[in-house]
Amino acid sequence: MSNPSLLILPGDGIGPEVMTEVTKIIDWYGAKGGLKFDVTMDLVGGCAYDKHGTPLTDETMAKAQDVDAVLLGAVGGPKYDNLDFSVKPERGLLRLRKEMDLYANLRPAQCFDALADFSSLKKDVVAGLDLMIVRELTAGVYFGEPRGIFEEGNERVGINTQRYTESEIDRVARSAFELARKRDNKVTSVEKANVMESGILWREVVQKVRDEDYPDVELNHMYADNCAMQLVRAPKQFDVIVTDNLFGDILSDCAAMLTGSLGMLPSASLGAPMANGRPKALYEPVHGSAPDIAGQGKANPIACILSFAMALRYSFDQGAEATRLEQAVEKVLADGLRTADLLGEEGVKPVSTSEMGDAIVAAL
Ligand code: ATP
Ligand code: MG
Repeated sequence: MSNPSLLILPGDGIGPEVMTEVTKIIDWYGAKGGLKFDVTMDLVGGCAYDKHGTPLTDETMAKAQDVDAVLLGAVGGPKYDNLDFSVKPERGLLRLRKEMDLYANLRPAQCFDALADFSSLKKDVVAGLDLMIVRELTAGVYFGEPRGIFEEGNERVGINTQRYTESEIDRVARSAFELARKRDNKVTSVEKANVMESGILWREVVQKVRDEDYPDVELNHMYADNCAMQLVRAPKQFDVIVTDNLFGDILSDCAAMLTGSLGMLPSASLGAPMANGRPKALYEPVHGSAPDIAGQGKANPIACILSFAMALRYSFDQGAEATRLEQAVEKVLADGLRTADLLGEEGVKPVSTSEMGDAIVAAL
């Protein structure tokens, strides 16, 4: 059998710096961990524009469609701010998401004990927290028609339409139940069925998918406003939360702040299952290209490293190795290693991007 394939797109700014640390980890798996990947590297974003005049070439797009998983660093930077909209670095990322039809956006909120003081909440509320928000990414109020600003009588009216079809709800619900089976087997579906028709349909379809195909997974339903409250009151009650585009946008940012720095947060975007049964997938840190610190060796590589851990778990069926990698991260943090973004305590000297990466490889 051939090795699992991975397309790496480091991108711009700190993207290449944090990705270098991920490649050290991939090399370690190849040499010592008994896990080899067929890795292809390519350009996306501003660097692709510099070389090819487009932020994503058709060749790169075709490769992305062909591999088991894509791992992306970050795109953009001030150098590209004045480019025409059609060739902006971000368009490269949007094209990937759109053509791969990645409809489920996964944002974990995981709190490492060593960083529990970083949370905006009390330590005992967040220590050991490990939840996953699955946000529907391609439909809902951000896309529904009609939309626009219209004249109505003697004033204007701004309109957006919340719209979900059964199949759009069905497929993202399946993503959430599949994930739950690899975690704690529990899904909370979030909507506002008390005041929204789309919410009523959402609840009905998610329940039906569960009853027909995932009876082993525990499911409960929660209104979005209550969920926001529960996230800051007692977040450890959740395992997987599945919700629509708008509520997911808000709740995932809220959950992110339970855990601390942007430099710690991974993400995945998943699409339909491929021939091998695993979903199309793009993994990337939540943070951007961070032009203010690019090229200085200050970037925290952990968000990107944890994105690769998600790839191990969700694209390569290597859950045990994903856990091993997360534990290596946990260990270096417990040992007191901190990149500059994680500094809190006085007298601690920050380590560089590559020192952090090397320490994680050593912990492996
Ligand atoms: P984008 O529009 O691409 O999301 P942004 O400017 O909104 O970019 P980031 O690029 O993520 O957001 O940067 C926001 C802030 O967080 C910056 O000050 C940056 O230095 C810091 N930051 C982001 N990622 C990291 C990281 N991995 N390590 C350390 N600091 C980071
Ligand atoms: Mg941003």
